[in-house]
Amino acid sequence: MKRTLVIGAGFGGLALAIRLQAAGIPTVLLEARDKPGGRAYVYQDQGFTFDAGPTVITDPSALEELFQVAGRPMSDYVTLLPVRPFYRLCWEDGRQLDYDNDQANLERQIHAFNPRDVEGYRRFLAYSQRVFEEGYLKLGSVPFLSFRDMLRAGPQLARLKAWRSVYATVAGFIEEDHLRQAFSFHSLLVGGNPFATSSIYTLIHALERAWGVWFPRGGTGALVQALVRLFTDLGGQLQLNAKVERLELDEGRVCTAHVVGGQRIDVEAVASNADVVHTYATLLGHHRRGAAQAAALKRKRSSNSLFVLYFGLNQRHEQLAHHTVCFGPRYRGLVHDIFHRDRLPEDFSLYLHAPCVTDPSLAPPGCGAHYVLAPVPHLGNAPLDWAEQGPRLRERIFDYLEQRYMPGLRQQLVTQRMFTPFDFRDQLGAHLGSAFSLEPILTQSAWFRPHNRDRDIPNLYLVGAGTHPGAGVPGVIGSAKATAGLMLEALLR
Ligand SMILES: Cc1cc2nc3c(=O)[nH]c(=O)nc-3n(C[C@H](O)[C@H](O)[C@H](O)COP(=O)(O)OP(=O)(O)OC[C@H]3O[C@@H](n4cnc5c(N)ncnc54)[C@H](O)[C@@H]3O)c2cc1C
Repeated sequence: MKRTLVIGAGFGGLALAIRLQAAGIPTVLLEARDKPGGRAYVYQDQGFTFDAGPTVITDPSALEELFQVAGRPMSDYVTLLPVRPFYRLCWEDGRQLDYDNDQANLERQIHAFNPRDVEGYRRFLAYSQRVFEEGYLKLGSVPFLSFRDMLRAGPQLARLKAWRSVYATVAGFIEEDHLRQAFSFHSLLVGGNPFATSSIYTLIHALERAWGVWFPRGGTGALVQALVRLFTDLGGQLQLNAKVERLELDEGRVCTAHVVGGQRIDVEAVASNADVVHTYATLLGHHRRGAAQAAALKRKRSSNSLFVLYFGLNQRHEQLAHHTVCFGPRYRGLVHDIFHRDRLPEDFSLYLHAPCVTDPSLAPPGCGAHYVLAPVPHLGNAPLDWAEQGPRLRERIFDYLEQRYMPGLRQQLVTQRMFTPFDFRDQLGAHLGSAFSLEPILTQSAWFRPHNRDRDIPNLYLVGAGTHPGAGVPGVIGSAKATAGLMLEALLR
């Protein structure tokens, strides 16, 4: 029997599989690793639960829609808890900004930095709301298959000055340096350099202001489990430890998927949630289209990588917010080094996750589960030996956190593990160890990004960070909607 196959159980793959199954298409979801979630994998150790990746959950309506199409109440599967403040932003000079959607509170803090920026911030918010309407609500989950689609979006993109960078746009509204950082760093959450990424990415600010920042009870892993349960309740079939090694073609269509270990699955249609370079170079590298597309993708710019440290402490740090951004001494210079230079910078900026602030059940009583990440160059820019660099960077980061944010950290350590660019490459099949796939610059976005359906192989689809609209949980869930629309049109014809 021919099947519809989704390769990879990241958020994009799961969301697509749910949409297909809910529409009555029997779907098989194959995941290479022993657990679903992809970048949202979960580590458990000595009573601590560590979400490996996404922790800032935005746009709950996109998640709710998945349950709606399946005809099940989301509340039967998962509970989203509000996070306040959204983030705490901290600088080395001791200044701090608690950012959330309380306008008066935000304006009071902005005023303390620079009274003139209150008005500038209001204008920036209005601009980002317009981008959010055009770029997210209208275009975030529609496929860009032809250049005509791009031309149609052209006037909106021109009106919003989409060729300008996030930072240049923010700096056009806001004068003060800390505030410019505070309102431009968001694109880094999806692998975008604020000095190069299109101003379209300022929409993240409006999106957070509109719908808030959330955290699933039990961690992001509980949301992954909820999606898995929804898929299997609908009759979908998930196979773990099932790595696809090759897609066989017949008369220009994918006909069979070969799984490591010998399993063969005859397919009607296939969607890959795997890394886009891996999809074309490895799964289809033996075919002309696969080899050509892989070569073209390798010429594109990849997003940065990340160095992540997960650690459990035998004490709680009540002084922390759930999400803290620890800005280092440099902003523009550091971002430049991460995206363009061939070595690890001496300094870093960090994102610190303290989920027990919202959900203490993620650690044993009185203890704290954490992760901290530093954006670092991908392996193509800086071919570092992470077996050697990783432990060194770990010590520098622990020293820094202990001195500035978490006194006594080393004494309190119960468990720790690292995830380096080597792991992005080896465990997730990420090209150059990129954490977010292709860099979201304008010339690699929308029609310029790998399409949700392959140009030449009509039953091959893509879903996830490497296709339109791009990385981030709302992005890949939007990609699943775009891809599902195309697949259902073909499969239910
Ligand atoms: C540390 C970190 C923090 C982040 N924080 C946030 C955040 O707070 N908020 C946010 O919105 N976004 C965040 N992101 C980005 C977000 O996590 C990703 O963009 C998104 O989860 C990617 O989903 P995806 O659908 O592209 O699939 P992925 O998560 O990349 O999953 C792809 C899956 O495919 C599987 N696979 C690959 N090859 C094969 C094969 N040959 N056969 C079978 N299976 C295969 C992989 O094992 C993997 O499970 C973060 C990312 C990272 C790394």
